Amino acid sequence: MVLPYKHEPFTDFSDKQNRADYEAALKKVESELGQDYPLVISGEKVYTDEKLTSVNPANTKQVIGNASMATKEHVEKAMEAAKKAFKEWKKWTAEERAEVLFKAAAIARRRKHEISALMSYEANKPWGQSDADTAEGIDFMEYYGRQMIRLGQGREINDRPGENNTYFYQPLGPGVVIPPWNFAFAIVTGTTVGPVVAGNPVLMKPSENTPVIAYKLVEILEEAGLPKGVVNFLPGDPAEIGDYLVDHKDTHFINFTGSRATGTRIYNRASVVQEGQTHLKRVVAEMGGKDTIIVDNEADLDLAAKSIVDSAFGFQGQKCSACSRAIVHQDVYDEVLEKALGKAKPYTVGNPGEEDVPMGAVANRKQFDKIKDYIEIGKKEGELVYGGTTDDSKGYHVHATIFKDMDPEGRIMQEEIFGPVVGFAKAKDFDELLDIANNTDYALTGAVISKNRAHLNRARHEFEVGNLYFNRGCTGSIVGYQPFGGFKMSGTDAKAGGPDYLLNFLAPKTVTEAW
Ligand code: NAD
Repeated sequence: MVLPYKHEPFTDFSDKQNRADYEAALKKVESELGQDYPLVISGEKVYTDEKLTSVNPANTKQVIGNASMATKEHVEKAMEAAKKAFKEWKKWTAEERAEVLFKAAAIARRRKHEISALMSYEANKPWGQSDADTAEGIDFMEYYGRQMIRLGQGREINDRPGENNTYFYQPLGPGVVIPPWNFAFAIVTGTTVGPVVAGNPVLMKPSENTPVIAYKLVEILEEAGLPKGVVNFLPGDPAEIGDYLVDHKDTHFINFTGSRATGTRIYNRASVVQEGQTHLKRVVAEMGGKDTIIVDNEADLDLAAKSIVDSAFGFQGQKCSACSRAIVHQDVYDEVLEKALGKAKPYTVGNPGEEDVPMGAVANRKQFDKIKDYIEIGKKEGELVYGGTTDDSKGYHVHATIFKDMDPEGRIMQEEIFGPVVGFAKAKDFDELLDIANNTDYALTGAVISKNRAHLNRARHEFEVGNLYFNRGCTGSIVGYQPFGGFKMSGTDAKAGGPDYLLNFLAPKTVTEAW
């Protein structure tokens, strides 16, 4: 019997034994760094001459691994493998497919610290953040397995006298999975196993920043008994194989999470029907955010400051849900800002591969330069009141940064920075708090800190975001509890970790028999 879903608990790092276990995992992972990793096509491990070198962002001399790079020819082979695998995989019952996910979850749970420790190196995730990332990956496997079992029974529709009607779901066919680097295990896992448990083989192209963690998932799925060709692993240069994967006539869907620029490009290209293509492609594109916490005049101001700071600086601000704008009622603006400056102090930077630090380095040189440029823009658009400094002597460190008195229409308050930078702006009343909150192209996450019930009720309907939180920070959604995704230019709002997610990868069918 399948037990009811419950999310994976987080590790308590105040416990000495847990810290010692994590340190041991870091040592073990360190001893394995620098290996070569293959492509996986139809279960075959293919090593190529050209390699993608993945490094520790806090210590760029430390090589995490060298991932083989797929070419268009490899994509062709992988697509043939996926098409072949589809013939059998689609015939597995929902329960049989779900069991592979449940077993994979059990394996990941056993290897939890090892996966998290690898993330502390490759994605530079602080321990607690890494642990939560791994837990979320396990949750996706447990949750989507159960969802598929439910959907496998079809849905109830009506019969009429002399007529029997049934309604059930079928998989679409081979698809492409393109995840980002920031939830290096969780999102890779969720975006892969969701379509897979629904019966669709995939070609998974991991982010060029975190191919080694993505390979761990492939290993786990293989150990769990996933048939060959159901998940094909194709790290590579997106400039060489990205469009090719998306454009391929046999690609049935693209399950993308990443930036707005890439997401809109994929959305556009996928609409073109290629020669020999016999279906329309579905696109799930979960993209960026410009997430706001608004603080009312009737509010717990310590909670407000803590929510802003933790949501802004956790994992170096590199979450699509990260708070990058704090819009505060004029009556409490100075006090909330003062408290936030105090709460930002513990957010120092370091190397999570070596110790339990509050913040690691940002992902790569491109991110580092981009955030640095935004800090300069911020100095012109408002007043720098905290941080604003960077250090690339060993890795890509950006210090926690706070700007005040920002123009809500300025670049700092409108564009996704994806780093530890938050801008404060003032509003005169709750109407203006909401107006500013809604003045971006994005609609991903947001939070309201208020003790005014009527204001919370208004925000529930008027604050335009996919995930809205009251009296807490705007990050940290949990699979099965806070289905996640945004609308407007934040994407297709597929609600990862929610009851409707798998429908993105299924075609409903109605069968009517005259009796
Ligand atoms: P990115 O768009 O640069 O890359 C995402 C993926 O797309 C990578 O695997 C990359 O290799 C691939 N890619 C790049 N060009 C491509 C092309 N032409 N064709 C096909 N694939 C291509 O994004 P990133 O820097 O990896 O991730 C950060 C972004 O992801 C941020 O904008 C963040 O907000 C967003 N994000 C959104 C969510 C969400 O659920 N909405 C979650 C996490 C991250």
